[in-house]
Amino acid sequence: MRLHGAELLEIHLPVVDPIVTAAGGEEVRIVLLVRADLGEAVGWGECVAFHLPYYSSEYIEAAAEVLRHHLVPRLAAAQEPLTPERIPALLAPVHGHRMAKAALECAVLDGWLRAEGRSLADWLGGTRAAVDCGVSIGFQESVEQLVATVGGYLDAGYRRIKLKVGPGWDLEPVAAVRAAFGDEVPLQVDANCAYDPRDAAHLGRLRALDRHGLQLIEQPFGSELLLDHAELAASVETPICLDESITSVATLETALAVGACTVVNVKLGRVGGVLAARAIHDRCEEAGIPVWCGGMLESGVGRAANVALASLPNFRLPGDISESRRYFAEDITTPFTMDDGQITVPTGPGIGVEPDPERLERLCVRRTPVEL
Ligand code: MG
Repeated sequence: MRLHGAELLEIHLPVVDPIVTAAGGEEVRIVLLVRADLGEAVGWGECVAFHLPYYSSEYIEAAAEVLRHHLVPRLAAAQEPLTPERIPALLAPVHGHRMAKAALECAVLDGWLRAEGRSLADWLGGTRAAVDCGVSIGFQESVEQLVATVGGYLDAGYRRIKLKVGPGWDLEPVAAVRAAFGDEVPLQVDANCAYDPRDAAHLGRLRALDRHGLQLIEQPFGSELLLDHAELAASVETPICLDESITSVATLETALAVGACTVVNVKLGRVGGVLAARAIHDRCEEAGIPVWCGGMLESGVGRAANVALASLPNFRLPGDISESRRYFAEDITTPFTMDDGQITVPTGPGIGVEPDPERLERLCVRRTPVEL
């Protein structure tokens, strides 16, 4: 296999019910797609970076730059045979830019698997035909509004509810959801790094969440504060889950060694690709801790890769994998739909879906061939 060329496509998708978090919200999801031309097949990958560098250091303009000038040329120059397993090492000389790397890896892997006639889930070692759906709910205008929103998603069949929280929007919303729907509803919270471990009031609020029987508290502190997470984990009953902190198997090893988490949110963009995501899955399984699949408001291309990843056996908790219409009135692929709280894992070659040419034409605002 050789990479003959690539194209970058910028798609604008209006968001239904934007998820407002401690890091802001997105009214229009600007999606960066990579189309990889492998000669005998074409593959697709999605870069999950947002258009501004407030959730993570990566953002779309920078990802497009590094893809055009560094990542795509490196793979295109590789000597045969270019196998999927060689991709991370070929891209390793470029520091960071994990979301951009993940997009290119996915595009090449998708094309390679299409040529092989094999699905991504099968190639990864997936063991599930369908994955459980969870939903992530951002800050709302009022607690009443939040309760109504949660009720709607529970009625729709979602198997787990996640509330975005931050200092001041935490104890009251969680208590209201518990009061309205009972203690049996699988409920977890995500702070997106919003709490300060040196603030006694913040620590008090996090510890007080213990009484609500949450499945986990996700990423209360900044991404580099592993020791603070460990200290909190030792002082509360609720499991601590890390998201932003876990960027590689190496950071996972440190987190495990210091006791910073007992659950991990796996996002293939955050860790540099589906191969790195599988390695993190495997290491967590060995350590006896469950993982679940996070979400980054992906279009159908990224969602398909997430669903394939979440079919691996140690994805034991429902992830932030929702049906397409929770985010978008119109997606660029055939939308993913939920049946009895689950999404079926695609079985077609590669990621199992592809952008619809007519919608791509209409929703794509910029199409840039990579000059080689
Ligand atoms: Mg998170």
